[in-house]
Amino acid sequence: MILSGSSPVARRPEIEYAGRAGRLRSRLGDHRVEALAVTGMTNVRWLTGFTGSNASVALLPDRLVLVTDGRYRDRATDELAAAGVEAEIVVGFTHDAQHEAFVGAFAGIAAVGADARSLTHARWQALAVELPIVAADGLIEDERRTKDAGEIARISEACRCADAALAEVAPMLFEGPTEADVRMELEYRMRRHGADGPSYDTIVASGPDHAARPHHEASTRQITEGDTVVIDVGALVEGYHSDMTRSYVVGDPSPEQWDVYQLLLAVQIAGIQAVRSGAAARDVDAVCRSMSVDAGYSDWFLHSTGHGVGLQIHEDPFESPASTADLRAGDVVTVEPGLYRVGFGGLRIEDLVEVTETGCRILTASPKDTPCPPSPPTI
Ligand code: ZN
Ligand code: ZN
Repeated sequence: MILSGSSPVARRPEIEYAGRAGRLRSRLGDHRVEALAVTGMTNVRWLTGFTGSNASVALLPDRLVLVTDGRYRDRATDELAAAGVEAEIVVGFTHDAQHEAFVGAFAGIAAVGADARSLTHARWQALAVELPIVAADGLIEDERRTKDAGEIARISEACRCADAALAEVAPMLFEGPTEADVRMELEYRMRRHGADGPSYDTIVASGPDHAARPHHEASTRQITEGDTVVIDVGALVEGYHSDMTRSYVVGDPSPEQWDVYQLLLAVQIAGIQAVRSGAAARDVDAVCRSMSVDAGYSDWFLHSTGHGVGLQIHEDPFESPASTADLRAGDVVTVEPGLYRVGFGGLRIEDLVEVTETGCRILTASPKDTPCPPSPPTI
């Protein structure tokens, strides 16, 4: 049986790596540094296209130096060439050799920026012995926010894989599966539809207790009629994540289940309508939060409304009351309000959207207009 994807890899636009180092260099002065020590693997990948598990990049005024170990000698050469990134690749066969090569690359630099978010304290101390490092927090993460066409294509493809898997699996809720059964089917089918794997541990949370926990892990609990079921599922495609939640009621919804679902749907749509370039990220949260509170559900609103998605499943910007970020065109963010109460269960609706100048483009496509799962096909 062939369940091939509809978007062959060859037709996806390329990710444009080549301009990234230059964009970072143009911002070094804001942080009063002359160079950057890039040590987090997500940032290394974003900057160079290298996908291995060990490398550090020295971003210097006139060149890039990537230091890795012997396992990745050929892979690093191939991947940087494929990405169109020019860099000197240095292979150190011992940890000490890698450290020396990395530190040596910064010779003559008066101030080296490093990202405290991805650098361990131990490595910071080891580098600080020899380098004038200072925090340049969030510089690469900020650049990573704006997705190019190649990145959007991969995120969209990941969304498509999750949509396709959920369309096949949701009717199974009528068959009395366990939460773990549903998770396994979703993860298997995402791969069959072309995903490299799940984006994160798929959440299947059912019934009056489990569904009331926003990050419940799928268990052996059997899903039965009358349950609310929260399914949070995303796929991974070439390093890029998707993120989506749909919630269901198995069987005929009670009046309360129906009402809470319709309220939540209105809240989530209002959240999506608040997304546009220039809007404060915290205002998207405020719209969802205030609607829920005004409807009498303040105790049911347990988490903030969304987060950025890209090479990481949770990345800048975050739509939370504490956020100081404004949304920008090219951000990819979730809108995922939920309402939870032990005894009732829980409901969450989450879409992934690309922020545009005038609003947003919704990348996830699974139906959400009703809490009733699609019926199994009758053959
Ligand atoms: Zn999610
Ligand atoms: Zn999410």
